Amino acid sequence: EKPRLLDDEEGGVLFFGASPSTSSGYGYSSMERQKQRLPVYKYRTPILYLVETHATTIIVGETGSGKTTQIPQYLKEAGWADGGRVIACTQPRRLAVQAVSSRVAEEMGVKLGEEVGYTIRFEDLTKNGVTMIKFLTDGVLLREMMDDPLLTKYSVIMVDEAHERSISTDILLGLLKKIQRRRPELRLIISSATIEAKSMSSFFQTSKRRREMEGKNLGPRMDPVILSVEGRGFNVQIHYVEEPVSNYIQSAVSTVLLVHDQEPMGDILVFLTGQDDIDAAVQLLTEEVQNRGKSSSGLTILPLYSGLPRAEQELVFAPTPRGKRKVVISTNIAETSLTLEGIVYVVDSGFSKQRFYNPISDIENLVVAPISKASARQRAGRAGRVRPGKCYRLYTEEYFVNEMSAEGIPEIQRSNLVSCVIQLKALGIDNILGFDWPASPSPEAMVRALEVLYSLGVLDDDAKLTSPAGFQVAEIPLDPMIAKMILSSSQLGCSEEIITIAAILSIQSIWVSSRGAQKELDEVKLRFAASEGDHVTFLNVYKGFLQSGKSSQWCYKNFVNYHAMKKVLEIREQLRRTAQRIGIVLKSCEGDMLVVRKAITAGFFANACHLEAYSHNGKYKTIRGSQEVYIHPSSVLFRVNPKWVIYHSLVSTDKQYMRNVISIDPSWLTEAAPHFYQHQRPPSMLH
Ligand code: ADP
Ligand code: MG
Repeated sequence: EKPRLLDDEEGGVLFFGASPSTSSGYGYSSMERQKQRLPVYKYRTPILYLVETHATTIIVGETGSGKTTQIPQYLKEAGWADGGRVIACTQPRRLAVQAVSSRVAEEMGVKLGEEVGYTIRFEDLTKNGVTMIKFLTDGVLLREMMDDPLLTKYSVIMVDEAHERSISTDILLGLLKKIQRRRPELRLIISSATIEAKSMSSFFQTSKRRREMEGKNLGPRMDPVILSVEGRGFNVQIHYVEEPVSNYIQSAVSTVLLVHDQEPMGDILVFLTGQDDIDAAVQLLTEEVQNRGKSSSGLTILPLYSGLPRAEQELVFAPTPRGKRKVVISTNIAETSLTLEGIVYVVDSGFSKQRFYNPISDIENLVVAPISKASARQRAGRAGRVRPGKCYRLYTEEYFVNEMSAEGIPEIQRSNLVSCVIQLKALGIDNILGFDWPASPSPEAMVRALEVLYSLGVLDDDAKLTSPAGFQVAEIPLDPMIAKMILSSSQLGCSEEIITIAAILSIQSIWVSSRGAQKELDEVKLRFAASEGDHVTFLNVYKGFLQSGKSSQWCYKNFVNYHAMKKVLEIREQLRRTAQRIGIVLKSCEGDMLVVRKAITAGFFANACHLEAYSHNGKYKTIRGSQEVYIHPSSVLFRVNPKWVIYHSLVSTDKQYMRNVISIDPSWLTEAAPHFYQHQRPPSMLH
């Protein structure tokens, strides 16, 4: 039976109702059969027809319906990759890029990096002239625009996971809309797990005048069309807690054990917030299981978060052996980006890690914050993939109904905009406030970003990129503050050291999780600890690693993450190449840490803090916004509390904590950024 086609001419909305499922029973099925059973398969022809005839197609469908893995393959089969053209599919998360591309390569029976490839920052697994389907982060596609503003090598760009409204997705959508005016042959697919499609559709709506003009040529229709893919999710029973829980990690672990004891077979997916609490939960659950002895055997416990080594990622996707039960403890990456087969039970903590920015205090940090109702529904939906499931929400029903917000806030409205502004400037978009945003950022945040970029010497009085500094900073694929630090290291003669620091700061952590031995880890860290602070400590670890002959043994003994160090070597190599290309002199300062700290200050002066006079508990105030902050316990400067410090990032739990901290001399601040500090004399200079 063919899908029904209801054409609503007025709104330009097409809707295809689902035909009865033609599922072909149980038992083993080949890859081809598996593919044909996915909900999008029934829409293959309509999807290809719409992409052919419309410039922009918006596809909405439940997670797991096959949007990400199948649509690029359909496009390729229909010839969109002929003649050396490439089909792109963007994802907000790198881990999703890797997992999905390796799945698609497997389905097509090709080696990853050939016909199917991927690119994430610092890792390019594609081959020019060979790769037809390319998965990449939306951030990488933005960067590609710097070399090829019209993205000419792509025939179709699928912007996936648009409902997430990541900052790069939003910028990308604004730019793609511009590109489409210049390149009407470019096809866009915007795919989303939720029906926020209407707002996307009006964003891509073209003017009436334009439509009239279009009537005269034979190109695609410029107005967007929406296709809704009907999923086949099963019913999910929702359970709430009676009383609010005080410790969601503990509570998640108890819930998992309860499910394991009382419920029939089926895998469990637990949503926590980040590596820290996931590691804690894995450890707690492992201990509980060991304590209980036999009764809890048959439980495989797996973490899932970005930065996990490849082999561990793959375990998560491996089918669970008969008679066993898998528990995956994940960040919200498993909410819509990745689909795990076999999940029947979901435990939802109700929280995720979110970025928040306050333009008044000029502070951005990652906060564990409540999710929205839309997220909660997505999470619950993960339990109904294979059969009716259950979702255990670790919050009360009253809370869900009355207090949870309906939708999340787009990331662009809760982020520091420094990176965003420099990217747009580098692409020649000068009127940033007038840019066509899917959701407008706040003018205050914009002003703050312009101010910082001006102080970094990246923008001039007319808010144009300075030459050469502004262009050089824009070329480095890192945060402008890090890029500026690298640029300054060229003049200060310590670029080799600063590039190492930049590489280490761009991965999550070089330490292994404590393996239950926090005290030991702290002692080991002391071997490398430098009185100047964490950045110099990193240099000591790196030196030790090189001296050991890059030995994994050495890493194990020193609680250093071997995979992370290998990654650091790779990133470092790439950064050196970029640095050379833009004219940075590669030079080592041979142990002169003063210049290293000055270079850090040149990039991060905006993050300077001063220890409160008479403070006995390590209370610092930020110079700019007078916000109360503390040194994170993981820092080598914890309890040392130098008078003046600069931090790399903030994390907020019970207090605001500075991560990766270095001590500085306050006179460097006015030297590095006179404009920034001239009106606000740092408080200590008064006493
Ligand atoms: P959507 O993008 O609509 O959420 P996907 O295309 O990601 O759906 O997934 C479609 C199907 O492919 C799912 O049933 C999922 O189980 C399967 N799949 C996706 N990635 C993998 C993987 N890495 N390993 C095994 N199966 C996968
Ligand atoms: Mg997907």
